[in-house]
Amino acid sequence: MAFIKINKQNFYHNLNQIVLQTGSVDKIAIVLKDNAYGHGLEHIATLASEFGITYAVVRDHIEAAQIEAYFQTIIVLNDTARKHSKCTYVINSIEAINNAEKGAKVELKIDTGMHRNGITMHSLEDALEKIEKQGLKLVGVMTHYRSADVLSSELFWQQKQFEEVKQRVKKAGYTTVRFHSYNSAATLRTKHFNEDLVRVGIGAYGYNELPDSFDKIALKPVLSLYAKKISTRTLAQGQCVGYGGDFIAPKTMRVSTYDLGYGDGWCRGDSNQPFLTAENLPILGRVSMDSLSLESEQEKVCIMNNAQNAAKQWGTISYEVTTALSKDIQREII
Ligand SMILES: *Cc1c(COP(=O)(O)O)cnc(C)c1O
Repeated sequence: MAFIKINKQNFYHNLNQIVLQTGSVDKIAIVLKDNAYGHGLEHIATLASEFGITYAVVRDHIEAAQIEAYFQTIIVLNDTARKHSKCTYVINSIEAINNAEKGAKVELKIDTGMHRNGITMHSLEDALEKIEKQGLKLVGVMTHYRSADVLSSELFWQQKQFEEVKQRVKKAGYTTVRFHSYNSAATLRTKHFNEDLVRVGIGAYGYNELPDSFDKIALKPVLSLYAKKISTRTLAQGQCVGYGGDFIAPKTMRVSTYDLGYGDGWCRGDSNQPFLTAENLPILGRVSMDSLSLESEQEKVCIMNNAQNAAKQWGTISYEVTTALSKDIQREII
């Protein structure tokens, strides 16, 4: 089976860089949604909690249940709010308040410009009132940035909107709620962090997605993906490999089949623009469901050790590359 190595040292290097930005590990909420961006939910939860992180962010109650033991507080991004000792639930709409179970702890999300989720700034006081009426406990107020990774004034404009939200929440009498808005990009570009939490995902996994024009903090990829050899053969000049016969051997070659394919969440790509592996080997011909071919006889090959580089080859982003990797691929911490 193909397998994934999770590099603990690199993960801790990234977390240490984030601590330098926030001033304290207590202010880090590690985002573990979608199987920890494909890195393995429990593996990353274990490492993050050993590092001293006590907050985690997940997608729903199923993910929350799997990592409950590792954290003190789990912020659930998109699920019906219920009473729970550790979980707090993000309120994405007014309806979500009505559907919440009495006694649930909630984080009110305000839409300051992303226009995906959250309550409009206009309805802030109304939402606070409804939260009280429904018998919910407001523990946080948050927002999410649409362009934190873009060199423009957009982030500052949205931050100004959120500052106004903070003032209005305090004015309504809430003095102990936590405020949080920073994702990785906002955290990595900040010079003076002044909120209660950062919610970092991609940065912790080793990718600084800010453009090069920023004074960039160096991070280290945590995940590397390996495939194992299934079989080897000699191709004569003119023989071709795989579906459609897209790769034609220009000379006599030793070619092996490796056990990774699009069924494992690996991108099928375009055989006319072959993907280059971590060892700079081009994938020969089309990727199959469970296999691909390389000019190699090694028992194991490192297919990818930097999802950002891989993403560039496919015209996507590091997030998509790692998140797509199947849960069934074995992960091991090194
Ligand atoms: C996914 C997510 C994050 C983390 O974003 P990164 O860019 O990976 O740091 C933060 N906040 C919310 C609400 C998210 O959904």
